[in-house]
Amino acid sequence: MTEKVQKSDQEWRKILTEEQYNITRLKGTEPPFTGKYNHFKDRGLFRCVGCGAELFSSQAKYDSGSGWPSFYQPVDKVNVRVERDASHGMLRTEVLCECCGAHLGHVFEDGPQPTGLRYCINSAALNFEPEEGG
Ligand code: FE
Repeated sequence: MTEKVQKSDQEWRKILTEEQYNITRLKGTEPPFTGKYNHFKDRGLFRCVGCGAELFSSQAKYDSGSGWPSFYQPVDKVNVRVERDASHGMLRTEVLCECCGAHLGHVFEDGPQPTGLRYCINSAALNFEPEEGG
């Protein structure tokens, strides 16, 4: 899979904060209930902090109680990539930005309908863009 946005480690370090870098490039996880979008309810679009790709809409955001922003679906499935993740002694499905390869979080099968999915995403991997007039 060829990513459309490719940058060197040095370039990523320049454009991202340390927290954004640790999460998106080193596959880190922000502590639960600390992220700026966990309890955030404004209407708009969440874009990739690395490349600006459209990832999640506030329309699909819900309170999962997990401590991380949770969505039941991405804006478009082609904008995210999933990979098997066997790290930390768990079997999980990692969610990445298809455009730049940023680690976003994980997806679990305990979400609400209509998808039954819970995209559990780090706030630090996202940039919010308010809806026009909203
Ligand atoms: Fe991206």
